[in-house]
Amino acid sequence: SQALDKGLEKTKDSMFTRLSKMVAGKSRVDEEVLDELEELLVSSDVGVSTTLRIIERIEERVARDRYLNATELNTILREEVAALLSENNSAGFDDTYSETIRPYVIMVVGVNGVGKTTTIGKLAHKFNQAGKKVVLGAGDTFRAAAVEQIHVWGERAAARVVSQKMGSDPASVAYDTLKSAIANNEDVAIIDTAGRLHNKVGLMNELSKIRNVMNKVVPGAPHEVLLVLDASTGQNAIEQCKQFTAATEVNALALTKLDGTAKGGVVIGISDQFKIPVKYIGVGEGKEDLQLFDRVAFVDSLFR
Ligand code: GDP
Repeated sequence: SQALDKGLEKTKDSMFTRLSKMVAGKSRVDEEVLDELEELLVSSDVGVSTTLRIIERIEERVARDRYLNATELNTILREEVAALLSENNSAGFDDTYSETIRPYVIMVVGVNGVGKTTTIGKLAHKFNQAGKKVVLGAGDTFRAAAVEQIHVWGERAAARVVSQKMGSDPASVAYDTLKSAIANNEDVAIIDTAGRLHNKVGLMNELSKIRNVMNKVVPGAPHEVLLVLDASTGQNAIEQCKQFTAATEVNALALTKLDGTAKGGVVIGISDQFKIPVKYIGVGEGKEDLQLFDRVAFVDSLFR
């Protein structure tokens, strides 16, 4: 899609335009090309271990078909990246959510500044567009700005907002949100959490308390724990992913700010390293700028 192409422009420029230049004029892929490719992938934030896996797979194919030109290299790289992404992004996960569960509860985690509030707002809009009734829980009670922003997004996305005063217990906000979601027969509840990465045990306790409350009000909830990561921070995003997955079970990722960055390769690295599906990508600040991650479209867009 055009929005995706535009969102990935910078990554594409730095990564794949360089790739074409690198192999231009060469008649075959030799050690030198592979070394350069390795460097290119690492510097595009694909991550070292994922890069080595990709290079290894390409080496095997080069060993098989000895004379590989630039176009063929591009095709093979594209196939290998698509294969890596598909291992961790099963087709079934492309559905926005399970309609049979109501309220479908999404717990959103991530550190401050990554685009958590914006992603919640965009998600609310997406569900609203699909004709679903959405309620937002302002569970990041430690930041006045977060609560205010959720209200702004609630208005923008026509979603009801449940909030309490600053400093109140996030688990209590989650409780109120779900109780009222049931009373109002709402389809989807999206609940924010505080983004403080104080210490591992603290984070773990806080998140598990919220989860327990959710599960008490709606058995089986949260149905989705969505970790929001800022793709433009590259390796920091990987570090945050490590910390959150150590603290709680995360089953979906949203990677934001792909539009402003050349570090889009981090999508490939994170997907490979954590085996958690990338469900959404953020490609702008507007309410339409959240896309369900489509691995085929993503790879097409990067390599076109
Ligand atoms: P939070 O602190 O994690 O809740 O972060 P916010 O949702 O307030 O977002 C922080 C900043 O990032 C805001 O200026 C957002 O408009 C911006 N932002 C969020 N997502 C995206 C995105 O996908 N693309 C771009 N360009 N900006 C984004």
